[in-house]
Amino acid sequence: MQNAQPTASHFINGAYVEETAGDVIDVIYPATGEVIATVHSATPAIVERALFAAKAAQADWAAMTGTERGRVLRRAADIMRDRNRDLSVLETLDTGKPLQETLVADATSGADALEYFGGLAGSVTGEYIPQPGGDFVYTVREPLGVCVGIGAWNYPTQIACWKAAPALACGNTMVFKSSETTPLSALKVAEILIEAGAPKGVFNVVQGMGAVGASLITDPRVAKVSLTGSVPTGRKVYAAAADGMKHVTMELGGKSPIIIFDDADLENAVSGAILGNFYSSGQVCSNGTRVFVQKGIKEAFLARLSERLSNAVIGDPMDEATSFGPMVSEAQMNIALGYIKQGQAEGARLVYGGSRLNRNGFYLEPTVFADVTDDMTIAQEEIFGPVMSVLDFDVEAEAMIRANATEFGLAAGVFTADLTRAHRVARRFEAGTCYINTYNNAPVEAPFGGVKMSGVGRENSRDAINHYSQARTVYVSMNDLEAPY
Ligand code: NDP
Repeated sequence: MQNAQPTASHFINGAYVEETAGDVIDVIYPATGEVIATVHSATPAIVERALFAAKAAQADWAAMTGTERGRVLRRAADIMRDRNRDLSVLETLDTGKPLQETLVADATSGADALEYFGGLAGSVTGEYIPQPGGDFVYTVREPLGVCVGIGAWNYPTQIACWKAAPALACGNTMVFKSSETTPLSALKVAEILIEAGAPKGVFNVVQGMGAVGASLITDPRVAKVSLTGSVPTGRKVYAAAADGMKHVTMELGGKSPIIIFDDADLENAVSGAILGNFYSSGQVCSNGTRVFVQKGIKEAFLARLSERLSNAVIGDPMDEATSFGPMVSEAQMNIALGYIKQGQAEGARLVYGGSRLNRNGFYLEPTVFADVTDDMTIAQEEIFGPVMSVLDFDVEAEAMIRANATEFGLAAGVFTADLTRAHRVARRFEAGTCYINTYNNAPVEAPFGGVKMSGVGRENSRDAINHYSQARTVYVSMNDLEAPY
């Protein structure tokens, strides 16, 4: 019988590996604050073993046909779906997100990525490009080599799969470093890939803090780094990768706008604002945390929002009736509480929530501020917690300028009944993903990623293939060669 929990700290060359010399990392269940597991940070020797394994496995993995590699990925997707409940419970233990969410958003989304890129793997090919006189060019699309994946803590299963699936489909191998806050889930992904037939060393997982990530990036065997994390970390990782001229994908933070016009369907707009601010207790990179509401419906919006929020079932994340769980850690909760204080100090009007709940675990109420102005700290900085800022506006042109007046550009949403306006606004948003009358959908078939400081490169979709492979060109002459002398 398969074990529902990982059995050691790291997964290298097809097997769990323990190395107690590494610093102890306690895994804390956010719903209770209790330590539920302990892992050890990777020592330099563990990092070396992981990179050695990934390098050794890469050539043979790349030599398999795409169809063969894809079959492994699709088998892994099936196993993930079969074990969805166990994997969802583990994701909930890692992150505190309610089972109501993890059952439908984590292993399932990871399985989608494995299935989608498994299906594409056989079609990753080069091109034939005719030239004058019968000459031609063909291109060879090749894997990059050993890739490093570095994950954030909000979607540990999904992030591991979103990086592993396209990387492996193209014939790369990977060493993945989990966030130190959520070390468990990626280990199960590694275990499942082996069970699905992936050769040893193709996908390895190591634990550790930022320093372990940093040591992976600078290793000369590494060809590419894909990071999901904050902008400050992105800057450091991008700079370290640049030194070795490595490929990067940067999935970074955001402070995304949602613009709600007077003519919007109020119920849908409130739903969008809830999904874009309170799912996963607000710990979603693409959240629309600056909600611009046209003055005509502002009070109706706030009243209905407060009414709907009072229906949130806050409690034990393992209870499937719970729709709002704790934040991932005490530190993250305190960061959000600090922003709430700052919002009040800077004159925003607290219309809902604002406090830590009087119970064990890291529970913060869903919180809404109204009368927020563009210069307030809560309107400018990514909070990464359940804190929504509602800002007023009069006309479209003004809302557009204010929505784009941010260094971030991950996502943006518009709610309106006027389709022409909806498309015009979507075109003018400076954001990687725009939503019209919905928010925060991320299907694997669509590119996902940011513009401006929110990132470089795209995950998901055919686009991701280009970020895990490169074309080499072969020019073939069919004619005698002429030279000037
Ligand atoms: P961090 O930026 O703090 O950390 C991200 C990862 O990078 C962690 O594994 C971290 O290790 C590691 N790390 C930190 N410093 C370095 C370094 N110098 N070199 C290499 N690796 C390093 O982000 P969080 O984990 O706090 O996640 C929240 C952030 O992630 C938010 O900004 C959010 O918007 C963003 N995010 C973006 C997504 C997207 O797709 N665009 C999706 C989800 C989240 P450790 O923490 O263990 O020390």
